[in-house]
Amino acid sequence: MLEKKPETDAEIEKLVYYTQRKIRPNGHAAAWVYRQKCPKCGKGLMGKPRDEKTGKVKIRSPDYICPDCGHAVEKKAYEESLTANVEYICPKCRYKGEIGIPFKRKKVQGMDALKFSCEKCGETILITKKMKEKKEDSD
Ligand SMILES: [Zn+2]
Ligand SMILES: [Zn+2]
Repeated sequence: MLEKKPETDAEIEKLVYYTQRKIRPNGHAAAWVYRQKCPKCGKGLMGKPRDEKTGKVKIRSPDYICPDCGHAVEKKAYEESLTANVEYICPKCRYKGEIGIPFKRKKVQGMDALKFSCEKCGETILITKKMKEKKEDSD
């Protein structure tokens, strides 16, 4: 069972990662990763720190921090402990599947990608990072 697919902005706010991608030639994948509670105090949702002046999230921060107790975890270690929920249509056999995989992005052809295999035909499916906003999805 996957965690709930986000539908509202408030739900998307609770995510670390969310993407919807076309998988060539005719497949599709959506992936979403929820933020998790602080491993230390169990209360705050771990997130990127906010800039004290502007209140904006520091996207490039190397750490995730707990807003309640200030516990910090290194970005990569934290992200790799999370689960990515993936809903997909296999580009090869058209199988419609759901799978939970570790949120580990690997470099594939110079791009960060989530990699998994179709549960039916074994086809390798890559969810690559978007280059820019939504443009890439429309080709
Ligand atoms: Zn905490
Ligand atoms: Zn398949």
